[in-house]
Formats: sequence, structure tokens, C-alpha cells
Amino acid sequence: MHGLFKKIIDIILPPRCLICGKVINSDNSLCGECFSNIKFITNPYCCKCGTPLSCKIDDEKMLCVSCLNPKIKKLFRMSRSAVVYDDFSKKLVLDFKFLNHLENKKLLVNWLIMAGRDIFDEGVDLIVPVPLHFSRILQRRYNQSAILAKEVAFRKNIKVSFDALSRIRKTAPQVMCAGKERKKNVKGAFKVNDIEAIKGKRIVIIDDVYTTGSTLKECAKVLLKAGAKSVDTLTVAKVCK
Ligand SMILES: [Zn+2]
Ligand SMILES: [Zn+2]
Repeated sequence: MHGLFKKIIDIILPPRCLICGKVINSDNSLCGECFSNIKFITNPYCCKCGTPLSCKIDDEKMLCVSCLNPKIKKLFRMSRSAVVYDDFSKKLVLDFKFLNHLENKKLLVNWLIMAGRDIFDEGVDLIVPVPLHFSRILQRRYNQSAILAKEVAFRKNIKVSFDALSRIRKTAPQVMCAGKERKKNVKGAFKVNDIEAIKGKRIVIIDDVYTTGSTLKECAKVLLKAGAKSVDTLTVAKVCK
């Protein structure tokens, strides 16, 4: 009966590509053309920050120029993103974030789990989403990062905390700020509410996009200050220049 019901639903409401809307065979997926436009971040990439690299030396784990520089302070143990943030991946992410396209969740979570392999292999005790200020939750009704974090935590059987970290200051959307302003915009915006939940934990922060990393760095700062053992970042997409 379940199979028949699904067939009827598929005739009335056939599955559509999450980007272009073309009718496809499976739910929560992309058509062949849109899938081929997505740039997945695959090897070679920097084993620390996950930035795509242009060449690969045998099977060696490689670092990018910035991770090789001892003068640059590294807040994250590791960072990983599934895809390059461009016009194709942008639609999936923004529809999910602002337009209630929650059906994109399954695909985005699959990508997060795939991209986070190195992080999960290294060991994670707690997943934390980037928190939204309560006024934004009232406006948008949900926090896209929390939805992703909840699902990743469930599928990887890892603890998740939605309230250990909170946003105490309303900030302008980061897209409105350029370069250095982004850093200033989020400075002092986060607070650890539950030090016991954070202390000694290997934490992975989940968000949709890694742009300059200002927001994630500010979150990492307060988590490390509260005694986190390490902080990783896992995002669906990354802005690559
Ligand atoms: Zn398509
Ligand atoms: Zn790097």
C-alpha cells in the first residue's frame, strides 16, 4: 500500500530537481545537468583548512601557504566544506536559508557528512550550530544551521547542543559587510552559556557557508576560551577565490 501511495504522489507531485525544478526520478536530488555544475571540493585540498589546492604530491597530506605560515594563528583544528560556493550551490543554500525550502535539507546533510569524514575520523564530542539572534529566529522562524546540525548529529550519533553557545548581540547580515568590517561586525556577538557542556570537548561548528570565516572564528574564540579541547568547522559551501 505504501508503494502504491508513493506512486500516486509521484504522479501528482513528481520529484523535481532542487535547483532548476526539472522533473527527475528521485526525491531531494538534482538533475544530471545541475549536478554536473556543482563543484565538489575533492582531493587535493589543504588537510587543515580544507582549501582546494592545485596540485597533489603522491598520497602526502598537504598544507596550503597560509596553514604553513606559523605566524598566522589557527583557531580551528580542521575545516571542511563540501562544495564551492558559486551561483549553482548558492541557490540550494539560500533557498534553504531564507525561502523555507526545507526539502533541501537531506541533500545538504548528505554533503556535510561526506565532507566531514576527516573530522569525524579524528573524533568529535559535540556538534554546535552557529546560533542566530532570537530576533532573527522570530523573523525567519528557523535557524538553518541548527536544522543541519541536528540532522548531522542524529546520523553520526554525536551529541548536539543548541543552547551552549548563543548570539547575544544582533549583528548586521555579514553579506552587507566587506572584508575587515565582517570581523568587527561579529566581535563579542557570541557567548557560552554552559561552560560544563563545552569544557574538554572536541567541537565541530556547523554552518551553511564559509565566507571569510569571521563568524566561525568568533564562535571558536569563545568556545576555546570556555575550555573546548578543539574546534572544527563544517560547512556546506566555501567561498573560494
Ligand atoms: Zn536541475
Ligand atoms: Zn590550509
